Amino acid sequence: MDRFIYADNSATTKLDGDVLNAMMPYLTTEYGNASSLYSFASQSKIAIENAREQVAKAIGALPREIYFTAGGSESDNWAIKGIAKRMLKDGKNHIISTKFEHHAVLHTLDALKKEGFEITLLDVHSDGIVRVDELKAAIKDTTGLVTVMYANNEIGTIQPVAEIGKVCREAGVVFHTDAVQAVGNVAIDVETQCIDMLSMSGHKFHGPKGIGALYIRRGVLPANLIDGGAQEKGRRAGTENTAGIVGIGAAIEKAVATMDARNEKSKQIRDYIMNECLKIERSRVNGDRVNRLPGNVNMCFEGVEGESLLLMLDAKGICASSGSACTSGSLDPSHVLLSIGLKHEVAHGSLRLSFSDENTMEDAEYICSVLPPIIDRLRAMSPLWDRIMAEEKEN
Ligand SMILES: *Cc1c(COP(=O)(O)O)cnc(C)c1O
Repeated sequence: MDRFIYADNSATTKLDGDVLNAMMPYLTTEYGNASSLYSFASQSKIAIENAREQVAKAIGALPREIYFTAGGSESDNWAIKGIAKRMLKDGKNHIISTKFEHHAVLHTLDALKKEGFEITLLDVHSDGIVRVDELKAAIKDTTGLVTVMYANNEIGTIQPVAEIGKVCREAGVVFHTDAVQAVGNVAIDVETQCIDMLSMSGHKFHGPKGIGALYIRRGVLPANLIDGGAQEKGRRAGTENTAGIVGIGAAIEKAVATMDARNEKSKQIRDYIMNECLKIERSRVNGDRVNRLPGNVNMCFEGVEGESLLLMLDAKGICASSGSACTSGSLDPSHVLLSIGLKHEVAHGSLRLSFSDENTMEDAEYICSVLPPIIDRLRAMSPLWDRIMAEEKEN
């Protein structure tokens, strides 16, 4: 019997069947342009506003604070470039972020740096967690924006978002968080957590691809990223992706309603695999073991090449990842693993498994049965492993 285990839910998730059903009318019969005045279009308009309410409710926001975008990358670009442009008018040009953000944030900051902005990237220490006192110390008169991700996409570590929000609020600095990995997995409340802007993406919580949202607190005014028609109250142009919007609304509502039960199960799978894999010699867990996403396992096995490991797992029917999917094609190890202080050769031997409600304990047991012999085989072929063993003998 051929096994198929999808354990790469941080890269993307399977579209939920109920979500697809909710979307279907808007992919077929209800194709009216939501901006049109005739009554045929009114169902599209109603569906979009219903989804806006669903998204708002899931994070404790008001519907009018939710703007639909084409995904997490666009939301991050809009939040950061939009505030950067506005803060210049107040004589501010300093932005604080972290070393281990998603490339949608880091590359956006690189672009702003070339335009003359000053960027401070905070350390995330060996546990993959930002220190609030270091953030506080980095804020100065010229700081106009702090952008810190809610949960890391590779090592799953969850940041002290409410504390960061409080520090930013007291300093009068706009706080944006890339919550793409957190939404649907972690309880979020933008009011009590003092979040000014928050990015999310539908396909990371069993919604469709190519739809996202940016929460923008009332009164916060990033410049537009996409100019054109008057959609989204004139702040994000483009004919509404009605089916996608209905999809992200249905997906977030279901994710929040089922969160506790799903997390219970994911944590069981996660902790079982981490404990089993730690029995393999010269293995380690990357990132804090407690403050991490319920479905995230990230480990390193010394003397192993991540890419080879993925191919051998694939041959056993297991979809996994080594670092971020966006970085494959590059020879450099993941910037996230380097940011927590791993040496290059250790970072190369990394494995990320990310689970959803679709996974079972049988999946976890199967993974743990095939992984040790694969690691043995790869180490038997590895000159690096020979060197590690020779060094061990010497000491
Ligand atoms: C996936 C992801 C993104 C990008 O979202 P897209 O919808 O694929 O553009 C941004 N940030 C994080 C943390 C992610 O995991």
